[in-house]
Amino acid sequence: MSNYVNRILDNLKRSCVGQDVFIQAATEVLFSLKPLLDKESKYEKHAILERITIPERAISFRVTYVDDNGKVQVNNGYRVQFNSAIGPYKGGLRFHPSVDLGVLKFLGFEQIFKNSLTGVAIGGGKGGSDFDPKGKSDNEIMRFCQNFMTELYRHIGNTTDVPAGDIGVGGREIGYLFGQYKKLTGLYDGILTGKGLNWGGSLARTEATGYGAVYFIDNMLKKAGLGLEGKKCAVSGSGNVAIYTVEKLAQLGAKAITVSDSNGFIYDPDGIDLALLKELKEVKRARLSEYVKSRPNAKYTPVSEYKPGTNGVWSVPCDGAFPSATQNELNLEDIKTLYANGCRFVSEGANMPSTLEAIEFMLSKKDFYFGPAKAANAGGVATSGLEMMQNAGMTSWSFDEVDSKLKGIMKHIFELSYETSVEFGEAGNLVLGSNIAGFRKVADAMIDQGYV
Ligand code: GLU
Repeated sequence: MSNYVNRILDNLKRSCVGQDVFIQAATEVLFSLKPLLDKESKYEKHAILERITIPERAISFRVTYVDDNGKVQVNNGYRVQFNSAIGPYKGGLRFHPSVDLGVLKFLGFEQIFKNSLTGVAIGGGKGGSDFDPKGKSDNEIMRFCQNFMTELYRHIGNTTDVPAGDIGVGGREIGYLFGQYKKLTGLYDGILTGKGLNWGGSLARTEATGYGAVYFIDNMLKKAGLGLEGKKCAVSGSGNVAIYTVEKLAQLGAKAITVSDSNGFIYDPDGIDLALLKELKEVKRARLSEYVKSRPNAKYTPVSEYKPGTNGVWSVPCDGAFPSATQNELNLEDIKTLYANGCRFVSEGANMPSTLEAIEFMLSKKDFYFGPAKAANAGGVATSGLEMMQNAGMTSWSFDEVDSKLKGIMKHIFELSYETSVEFGEAGNLVLGSNIAGFRKVADAMIDQGYV
């Protein structure tokens, strides 16, 4: 086995103290690259792992705003520009109290390989803030976004770095960020994706990550002679990834029976009521516990009733699971419970939702189909790429046109990952397949471009 990987990981553990999620993401990628690195010495010769694990640049800044009570509020802002070998930095902004440099390095690192898999010419980046949008007024959100952009604007551009949304950053925030960029620069540039539909956004961008996660597993199941029709699925989260996973599952004849937020989860044996979910989350911005008021058969379980060390949403018997909330939300005990209850596939809509131990468990089961995040949730950023193309061509495509391109991209990502898993003698191990395929393209571009 490649000592190269172990040496790099040891160095990272020394230099990135406290950045546990980044080390976890790097461990997953680097371990699965071992067969490639054993076969091809050029990557070690050109110090690719040393270079690809350090961001080209990580910008850290202060964001200050005055809240509705006249109090000064101060937050940390960041943009991690991880890798630009195959295109401008691309990746979302996350506003959540857990955000720090380690979290954004994990997300930016994932983005390099995910973006490479899409086939669109985009590099990897991520940014955000420890600002907590929960409970803030619209005006507070606007002032925060404006002040965040007042610092960020000098670092982005449609051929340098194109941010988008992620947890805590949706259409409303992208609007405020875009308005401030325009005010500061006077430019009407496509410097953000996820924009509003009448000012440069793409149809189907909101739906893309959730739809993509369903398309991906559909391809994977079909390859095995199986299908989604009639399957009962557990979905976690209730943001746009979860909502549009629920929607696409219903369209393909499957049924989502759960959704969750940070306070608890809903189990609805009749299938999640999509219109109600959208009304609560997209219109009212309400907590999920409200759902049961209009659905008497549904049950709400608060986090306080979860078995300690587990995520309650995975205790519901199902055929497949779509972790669509956040990192490390599905651990070894959770996957053992899911498996014992009949679950046979997982498609990751969130970034790194499964722990390394849970992934190992899924890969060890011959009758289990695992769609890893970098491949399965790449539909969101791929459609951001389609938004950039529309902006560059000063045009806009119909919903069906974008959706059919998305479908084609997810099929391509599945096939590329699958074929790569076969090439390295581990047919169906898409962790290995997607990591190697994503890495190879970026690493070869880095070699071509010299030591920079
Ligand atoms: N935040 C999304 C992701 O994790 C989308 C990024 C984008 O569209 O740039 O891939």
